[in-house]
Amino acid sequence: MIGIVYHEDYNKYDLGVDHPLVGNKPGKTMEFFEEKGIMKDVELFTPNKAAEKDLLRAHSENYVSRIKELSRTGGMLAMDTPAKVGIYNHASLATGGSILAGEKLFEGFNCMVNPLAGFHHACISASSGFCFFNDIAVAIEYLREKHKLKRFLIVDLDVHHGNGTQEIYYDDPTVLNISFHQDGRTLYPGTGSLEKIGRDKGEGFTVNLPLPPGTGSASYLKAFDEIIPPITKQFKPEIIIYQSGVDTHHSDPLADLNLTYQTYYHLAKKMRELSADTCDKLLVLFGGGYNSSASVTSYYNIMCGLLDKDKYLKEIDNTSHQKFERVKNLVFDLKKVLKPHWEI
Ligand SMILES: [Zn+2]
Repeated sequence: MIGIVYHEDYNKYDLGVDHPLVGNKPGKTMEFFEEKGIMKDVELFTPNKAAEKDLLRAHSENYVSRIKELSRTGGMLAMDTPAKVGIYNHASLATGGSILAGEKLFEGFNCMVNPLAGFHHACISASSGFCFFNDIAVAIEYLREKHKLKRFLIVDLDVHHGNGTQEIYYDDPTVLNISFHQDGRTLYPGTGSLEKIGRDKGEGFTVNLPLPPGTGSASYLKAFDEIIPPITKQFKPEIIIYQSGVDTHHSDPLADLNLTYQTYYHLAKKMRELSADTCDKLLVLFGGGYNSSASVTSYYNIMCGLLDKDKYLKEIDNTSHQKFERVKNLVFDLKKVLKPHWEI
């Protein structure tokens, strides 16, 4: 059973007309799902705002107060992240969506989707990259407290490295955080290099694959198959959180990983299968995507993958295979770094 959490006010998470994050993307996404007949196969839920005590499980008191104040006055959280009046409520609502979606996985649903989610640049006491609250960590900590879970897996496939999530869980062996992203030497936020694998007890529980610009679909899918299923099966997660950012698409104005539409179908299908083989609890957070119309198509393909529908949209795979060898070597290097911790 699959469900989606959605609220009309998601579309108020708007950072301004000239900003790459387009405010009405969740609404456009839901309209497209309706048009394509997706909604008859999913159950719809309306989230509430996350409570302050929920936010405080992942963020410092000072930080939450700062967002509250900025939300009252308007201002800038960071150079790239304007804080509009009311943003506290809108960001809390998106975060509440991830909590509700996570909770539904313990009420009989095996896959839940939040279309305004995956704010992985939000650190404990600071943020940038269009993020305010790290809904991934807030949802994890909520579920940890309520259901006493001991093993959480994050698979973050957004084109940007999730520096906030990494900071929060860098020394925590209960949260395995796997991130594929464009190499930080070529893209914001600059972090997520291959040798960053966690600290102290958390060593081995952070996995980073920084990919070169132009990676392309074939190399990406191959890297996925070599790294993610074997580690997941050894870790035996009790829930899988899949940050499915589509800013990896070739038309995205912010990045250059050069993936095609059909890649999102294949990735989502693989994630659903991996979940079915382990905990059967998949929390899908749609994440980034800055070419709005391409993002909506990509999200639709993710739904097709999750629902195992083969009516997904395709385009000509014009990605060159020249990066194939380079990515293969990177995967080899990553395996070497991970060998002391995982059979890989
Ligand atoms: Zn991103």
